[in-house]
Amino acid sequence: MTQIPNRIMILTERKKKRSSWNKGKKLSEKHRLKLSIAHQGNVGYWRGKKRPDISEKLSGIIRPKEVGRKISESLKGRKHSEEWKEKIRGEKNPNWKGGVSFNYRQGYKKQQMKWRNAILERDDWVCQGCKKRGGKLCAHHIKDWKDYPNLRFNLNNGITLCKECHQLEHKSRLNN
Ligand SMILES: [Zn+2]
Ligand SMILES: [Zn+2]
Repeated sequence: MTQIPNRIMILTERKKKRSSWNKGKKLSEKHRLKLSIAHQGNVGYWRGKKRPDISEKLSGIIRPKEVGRKISESLKGRKHSEEWKEKIRGEKNPNWKGGVSFNYRQGYKKQQMKWRNAILERDDWVCQGCKKRGGKLCAHHIKDWKDYPNLRFNLNNGITLCKECHQLEHKSRLNN
C-alpha cells in the first residue's frame, strides 16, 4: 500500500519541476495561439469549443489563393498571342510612358490642374474671346504645349476661353 503515496510524491515532484521550468517563461498569448493552431488537426480537441478567430484567419489566407488559382486556370486555356504579350510589356502600348511612374504622372496632372485654375482665376472666369463669363471654360495654351514644353505651366502662356472659342481657336490654327 505504499505505492499510492509514492505516485503522489512523484507527481508533485514533476509538478514542481514543471513549474520551476516555466518560471519566467510564461507562454505568450501569441505562442499559445500558434500551439493551438498546430494542434487543430485534432478535431476532437475543438469539439464543443468555440475556436478562436483561426477560421477567420484561415479563410483570409485561403480565399486569395483560390482566386489566384481560378484566374490562372482561366488563363491556361488562353494562348498568349504575341500582341497580347506586347500589351502586357507595354512597349507598343500607346499609353506606355516609357516606364514613367504612376506618381510622376499624378504629379503632372495635379500641376496641370493648378495651372488651369490659376489661368481661369486670373481671367476672372471670363472667356477672353467672347467675354462671356462662366460656362465650360478652358485654359488654352497660347503657344502649343507640344512645341513649347517649358511653357506648359507658364501663366503667361495661358488664356481663358469658352468651349466654342477654344474650338474656333484650334480650328483657325489648323487652317493657318
Ligand atoms: Zn487650346
Ligand atoms: Zn468664348
